[in-house]
Amino acid sequence: MKKIKEITKGKAKSMFTTENDDYLVMHFSDDTSAFDGKKKEALLGKGAVNNQFNAFIMDHLEQNGVETHLIEVIDATDSLVYKLEMFPIECVIRNRASGSICKRLGTEDGLILENPLFEFFLKDDDLGDPLINDEHIISFEWADSNQIQEMKKQTYLVNEILSKLFLDSGLILVDFKVEFGVYKDKILLADEFTPDGCRLWDVNTLKKMDKDRFRQGLGDVVESYHQVAERLGMNIET
Ligand code: ADP
Ligand code: UDP
Repeated sequence: MKKIKEITKGKAKSMFTTENDDYLVMHFSDDTSAFDGKKKEALLGKGAVNNQFNAFIMDHLEQNGVETHLIEVIDATDSLVYKLEMFPIECVIRNRASGSICKRLGTEDGLILENPLFEFFLKDDDLGDPLINDEHIISFEWADSNQIQEMKKQTYLVNEILSKLFLDSGLILVDFKVEFGVYKDKILLADEFTPDGCRLWDVNTLKKMDKDRFRQGLGDVVESYHQVAERLGMNIET
């Protein structure tokens, strides 16, 4: 399906209209950003690895009962997806404390959370994506209570499925962010699941294999994404 018009250019992806009003082309660029867009760089080949990584994960989730927006992969960097009405919300699950929660609560990096922790954040870079709760979502009408329950249920299911998938490849899923939207009255998992939006640590050495390599200037960002893909048995076309 041909791309017609770029309707959004985000920090890592662009969305294009197609000849079918229900579909969008999601293009993964090499652009990489952190700290609400304050640190930016283009990392050669990241768009390609992320597009194919995302498709592998979304396919795996579909096979395990999570409905997603992915229709098909078009080429190395592009995929066809259903066009959704997105919730302006990020759903995060943490299996270990890392990143913003350590700053917020003074928690030790890597602390194991026996009960995975679910958090909502408002998608708003200008405000620094603040932490919000169910009450904010209801009062500001970002979603209703059934939609909130559905997003939580699906995110916990994603955590269960992917924690196992990664652990089978020697990786700990420390935390991740997902987004949802509505397509014809149905809530679907949308956006992406790639090492840009999760933390993955080697189970033996606790080496970081995700976007923290970029955030913390550790180097070998795209190389690490390829290593994760390889461990999961993906064949990435560059
Ligand atoms: P950001 O908005 O954080 O800069 P991206 O660069 O990833 O992020 O841009 C992708 C945008 O497309 C995001 O705003 C995301 O919510 C939105 N999006 C993802 N999947 C869909 C979809 N299926 N339909 C409509 N919008 C989507
Ligand atoms: N995350 C994301 N996009 C965001 C914020 C967070 O993909 O706008 C991911 C991040 O990569 C991590 C998880 O969500 O895997 C939790 O992020 P955290 O709240 O710790 O924020 P950070 O310190 O990573 O910005």
